[in-house]
Amino acid sequence: MSLPLIGFIGLGRMGEPMAECLLRAGYRVIGQDAVPGRAAAFAARTGAMSAVSAPQAIEQADTIITMLPSSREVAAVIEAALPTFRPGQIVLEMSSGAPDVTKSLGAKLAERDVAMIDAPVSGGVSRAKDGTLAIMAGGPDDDLDRATPVLAAMSTTIHRIGGLGAGQAMKALNNLVSAAGFLAGIEALLVGQRFGLDPERMVDVLNASTGMTNSSQKKFKQFVLSRKFDSGFGLDLMLKDLTIALDLAQATATPAPFSAHCRELAASSVAFLGAGRDHTEFARISEILAGSELHFPTEPEA
Ligand code: NAD
Repeated sequence: MSLPLIGFIGLGRMGEPMAECLLRAGYRVIGQDAVPGRAAAFAARTGAMSAVSAPQAIEQADTIITMLPSSREVAAVIEAALPTFRPGQIVLEMSSGAPDVTKSLGAKLAERDVAMIDAPVSGGVSRAKDGTLAIMAGGPDDDLDRATPVLAAMSTTIHRIGGLGAGQAMKALNNLVSAAGFLAGIEALLVGQRFGLDPERMVDVLNASTGMTNSSQKKFKQFVLSRKFDSGFGLDLMLKDLTIALDLAQATATPAPFSAHCRELAASSVAFLGAGRDHTEFARISEILAGSELHFPTEPEA
């Protein structure tokens, strides 16, 4: 049986390397992006095909992947293209979206005999390039079975977590845990630096101790102490994920005061710093409040 033709909508920091993984696995890909010329440039570089609009990609594809900033863009794309969908197609919604929006889109697509699963990812741009993302998938088992070979071309772990929307609920809660760990670590580094501890050595100690987190391992030295702030994941996207997590807390009547505080601090960071910031710049709000900046220790002058 020939491999499905994949329409890939959203060739941003994650989508482009993910689409390249599909090409490496032998899939034919039709890329599309709202930024004029982005899909054509991707096609010229990789040998993929490109479409000038989402309906044009959807019309030709067997499997449609959406990798867009939020559910707002996903809903806009799918609703505008509804008449274009054909029975038998499947949509793999891989953005970190809102479960309730995804469920409602799934119901509209089901009316046209089009299947939908959600399969958001974790691992960032580096693991998107390597094809080693962690995927949290939601949907009926037969649709997940059908999607698995395509997902496996981009990932090493696929967790089936429940029905449609469950993957996105898990993803938002994962990012809540990640952001809270980041913030706690940054505050600890600021306190330690003021006390006279070397923040670089503090990160080494955390990484050998119970305070170790993904942020202590992969973010503090690399993006904060270095002042590079270029991880490739936007602060606005992190705030969106925290908002989804807090919406879930509200919808399930689960008090989550610590998480709410974390979300408020992220919202303050976005409001204060403005658009286009990296999520590791979340550290800046703690630095502003503390009145000091984290950095590698300066070398003593020779
Ligand atoms: P991005 O902003 O780099 O890319 C999004 C792409 O979608 C852009 O190229 C943009 O032009 C395109 N786009 C926007 N609206 C569109 C539309 N209506 N039609 C077609 N294209 C449109 O974002 P990203 O970092 O690639 O993130 C994508 C999703 O993956 C988000 O939901 C994010 O939360 C999630 N995510 C990101 C990372 C990361 O490290 N960057 C990691 C895991 C998950």
